[in-house]
Amino acid sequence: MKALVYRGPGKKQLEEMPKPTLRDSTDAVVRMIKTTICGTDLHILKGDLPTVAPGRILGHEGVGIIDEVGAGVSRFHKGDHVLISCITACGKCEYCRRGMPSHCEQGGWILGNAIDGTQAEFVRIPFADTSLYLIPENAEEDAMVMLSDILPTGYECGVLNGCVKPGDAVAIIGAGPVGLAALLTTQLYAPATLIVIDLDDNRLIVAKQFGATEVINSTDGKVVEKVMFLTAGKGVDVAIEAVGVAATFGLCQEIIGAGGRIANVGVHGTSVTLHLEKLWSQNITITTRLVDAVTTPLLLKTVMAGKLKPNQLITHHFALDDILKAYDTFGNAGREHALKVIVTNQ
Ligand SMILES: [Zn+2]
Ligand SMILES: [Zn+2]
Repeated sequence: MKALVYRGPGKKQLEEMPKPTLRDSTDAVVRMIKTTICGTDLHILKGDLPTVAPGRILGHEGVGIIDEVGAGVSRFHKGDHVLISCITACGKCEYCRRGMPSHCEQGGWILGNAIDGTQAEFVRIPFADTSLYLIPENAEEDAMVMLSDILPTGYECGVLNGCVKPGDAVAIIGAGPVGLAALLTTQLYAPATLIVIDLDDNRLIVAKQFGATEVINSTDGKVVEKVMFLTAGKGVDVAIEAVGVAATFGLCQEIIGAGGRIANVGVHGTSVTLHLEKLWSQNITITTRLVDAVTTPLLLKTVMAGKLKPNQLITHHFALDDILKAYDTFGNAGREHALKVIVTNQ
């Protein structure tokens, strides 16, 4: 089968690989229909995640059709149309039972990381019963792909951890796909002010279309002043950090109001400065989280009801044969005006 294979930092190839087979009775093999590329895949290609071994098939998102199930799989059958969660959950370990399968002792984020992933014609899914979702009839497949990772990530790590409430002033720092996913899901809670901050004007135009009440381009160095002006000098109730660099986490600390919540979503590769000399008395909560994807059923219902339209996040389509082009487009998102790209296995 064809698959996108990581061959060490900076190297990837579309290669012929053996079709995966069942290894454990709880496995399923899924024939991929659609997948996508995540910012995390770009981090892997830069060599930021040394746990990913060369030879690994990348990808942790997508939808497909079940090709084969092990004898221990009871909820799915050959031919079922399924959504693949980026988080593999055994459903039995301490973390899974605490609702935190991101830290599952045998799973968590392993697809396209510790085991082969979804950017291929077929993928093996361990613990299929607790790691796949049946796709409802009439569902739009492209929208379903957004439920594998970015929608639950923006929602769980940003909106839920940030405890967004009606009337809040919310700032989202970073208008990439995950920041925009947080922007879409934050609106389920009716914040009064919804500020999106980025360096890219095109992304800010998109953010405005997606429901931001205010957008700020932070290149001029006046972003703190502008946020304070928009919040009557108080600062925001919730700051969602969706970039993953020290400067943006620092910005969150400057714009957060008393009693506020800083919800970190970004993947940080270096340390940041915590300004406790300013924040110690401000009743601030700072949260971190790896997506658990436990809200996928809730988000699925919300999408099916038309209350959330994640297909707005999709800007480009490619065939699996052209996945290198898809990487080029996604990797040059600013130049290409790209958000999420869909890669289809015909
Ligand atoms: Zn991802
Ligand atoms: Zn587990």
